[in-house]
Amino acid sequence: MDYDLHIHSALSPCGDDEMRPTNIVRMALLNGLSLISVTDHNSVSNQQAMAQAAKTYGIAYWYGVELQTKEEVHVLGYFRNEADVEGFDTWLRTVRDTTVNRIDHFGNQYLLDENDEVLGQETDSLILSLSAGLNECVAQIKKAHGNVVLAHVMDRKNGILRQLAFIPKNLNFDGIEITQTDQRETLIASYPWLSKKTFFLNSDAHRLIDIHDAGQTMSEEEIEAFWRNEP
Ligand SMILES: [Zn+2]
Ligand SMILES: [Zn+2]
Repeated sequence: MDYDLHIHSALSPCGDDEMRPTNIVRMALLNGLSLISVTDHNSVSNQQAMAQAAKTYGIAYWYGVELQTKEEVHVLGYFRNEADVEGFDTWLRTVRDTTVNRIDHFGNQYLLDENDEVLGQETDSLILSLSAGLNECVAQIKKAHGNVVLAHVMDRKNGILRQLAFIPKNLNFDGIEITQTDQRETLIASYPWLSKKTFFLNSDAHRLIDIHDAGQTMSEEEIEAFWRNEP
């Protein structure tokens, strides 16, 4: 399956206002993708609408989120069941900063339905870090039967190597996100045990035009192995 598992909807403050469920799904199909996930910052409030739009248009969907931990590390969480993501949301709301988002400065945080209609705004500022640390965030994703992927590990301000300067071996994660194919080799040279993890190359799209074309592929077997935590 050709995938892109790191896309932001207009709920993320940095996500373009046109990043709405049906728009995202239609662009993904146009690009030849068959599996997607929207991973908004510190919120899962658009997940139901995304899953519904994906179902309507016949593209596989994983529920997703991109957490910003207390250490400012970005961690992706994936879930396969609506009940699991709802359970996770209950915890997430207890560790989110309730400072009100400044729309004029950070952008809209649209709550959307599956037909791309705006239902309102998330008022909590999603750009701020959670009060939970990396270990707790990972543990809570796991507790909700989710899988954990460390986001853009070698890149950008919030990759784990920028924030912590190393990847802890005892952290219970399942996958690693890279932004260039050759980063896999570089990472395994420093951390040989990473060869047992699943590697992903996603777009981190904040605009429709940045959603990946087909080309990053996982077989059904690789996907099942990822969910069984045995790549
Ligand atoms: Zn990120
Ligand atoms: Zn992102």
